[in-house]
Amino acid sequence: MFQKILIANRGEIALRVLRAAKELGIKTVVVHSTADADAMHVRLADESVCIGPPPSRDSYLNIHQIVAACEITGADAVHPGYGFLSENAKFADILAAHHITFIGPSAEHIRIMGDKIEAKRTAKRLGIPCVPGSDGAVTDEAEAKRIAADIGYPVIIKATAGGGGRGMKVARTEEDLIEALQTASTEAGAAFGNDSVYIEKYLEKPRHIELQVFGDGAGKGIHLGERDCSLQRRHQKVWEEAFSPALNAEERARIGDICAKAVADLGYSGAGTIEFLYEDGEFYFIEMNTRLQVEHPVTEAITGLDLVHEQIRVASGGGLSVTQADVKFQGHAIECRINAEDPRTFVPSPGTITHFHTPGGLGIRVDSGVYSGYRIPPYYDSLIGKLIVHGRNRVECMMRLRRALDEFVVDGIKTTLPLFRELVGNRDIANGDYDIHWLEKYLAESD
Ligand code: ADP
Repeated sequence: MFQKILIANRGEIALRVLRAAKELGIKTVVVHSTADADAMHVRLADESVCIGPPPSRDSYLNIHQIVAACEITGADAVHPGYGFLSENAKFADILAAHHITFIGPSAEHIRIMGDKIEAKRTAKRLGIPCVPGSDGAVTDEAEAKRIAADIGYPVIIKATAGGGGRGMKVARTEEDLIEALQTASTEAGAAFGNDSVYIEKYLEKPRHIELQVFGDGAGKGIHLGERDCSLQRRHQKVWEEAFSPALNAEERARIGDICAKAVADLGYSGAGTIEFLYEDGEFYFIEMNTRLQVEHPVTEAITGLDLVHEQIRVASGGGLSVTQADVKFQGHAIECRINAEDPRTFVPSPGTITHFHTPGGLGIRVDSGVYSGYRIPPYYDSLIGKLIVHGRNRVECMMRLRRALDEFVVDGIKTTLPLFRELVGNRDIANGDYDIHWLEKYLAESD
């Protein structure tokens, strides 16, 4: 087992990892920017190292500073959290060269899954169902027209190096296609420094359903059920739940088995998420995230497993603590992402939290790095906390969520809490009747 883990992240996820390490009796080091000197993870860690000024590129993305912090403190492993360097294969390579363990999959698997075309090819080879589309990057207009005609309109143009929903354009006709191709490519070039794009069939009313998987790196793979993350705004997840209200036990077992087998065949190590769009009973692979997800607590709630413990175990060579047969699902869980944002316009609202009171009681978990008097710096993403609610079934979970949202107090800044108070009382949400466009339509109609 590791002696000392360095956490290369901030906010709620830094605290989440820190808690897991403490429970395992592992010493913790955190790194932070000058803007985060007062952060909770810095206060609670055994050691902390300031690695630079506020901009992420000079601190949380500064590989040299982070490796130096490992060497100074004698950390033997790094947990990257999500975002920042968590899916950076070069970072994993550099750590390996310094004999520091990256708590995550191999650099090779990060690389494959970070390239959307390579990821799709690999998924296909592993027997994972994919969205019909081009086999690789599409460069010329004639080829694009041929492929689009083949799979049928509407189609979506996506960036090979995509992420965060950027560089995507829908084309409904051949006339749209050429323009969409150009805009997507230009956007992708500006956002990712790589203008290569590919084409997929555009699904009109899909749900976003993702499978939590784990591999031990030695040919064993398990799945921990799905999460439904269809409630999104601008491709950003807002509300996540496990199980999906749309799947039945047979579908769950079928896709779960496919994913667990794929992870095993790949020789994948650690936590991963295989994301699908789901429409009319069919699953379509969109990507695999080779890290812990923001929404992992809903899976923890329904399985009783600590996913960060499992990540640390696997990375240290201790294997998984459970087999597929040991995994027992229980009840229903929902997570609401509490952002420091205006609940209607979603404009960030940094500033000082004058009062912070979290709900409690049976089935309630709040993962947050903030506290009363904490000043939210304007430099990073606006997630300030996650409310995770567990119940024996979805109805009980929703009752408990409504009560917990009433108790939650965040004063001094705007948050997305009022939006969740609306959603929990909405009939479609109560019925689990929503797709990936539901939330944007709701916001547009209730303006
Ligand atoms: P990113 O890595 O940028 O997040 P994804 O491939 O994961 O890109 O897609 C993000 C979101 O875009 C999906 O959750 C879905 O809302 C939408 N999307 C992606 N591909 C399609 C498609 N083929 N049809 C319809 N919507 C899509």
